[in-house]
Amino acid sequence: MDAQTCLKKLEYVGVLAFATVDKNCPQRCIEPGTPYRIQQNHCLHCGNCFTVCPIKAVEKRG
Ligand code: SF4
Repeated sequence: MDAQTCLKKLEYVGVLAFATVDKNCPQRCIEPGTPYRIQQNHCLHCGNCFTVCPIKAVEKRG
């Protein structure tokens, strides 16, 4: 697989993972971008995003 195709596939997997996490966030407070960001002022710290992300992209801090 060439690098461009590989990047496209990674991007696609990232979008699918975001859709899964976003629909499980009670506050819908995760913003797409590079990187994706959680709007801390709206976050309930429920941990759903950490639990459901299929590619383990959510990191716990602190
Ligand atoms: S911890 Fe809960 S409220 Fe905060 S971003 Fe994750 S799913 Fe949303």
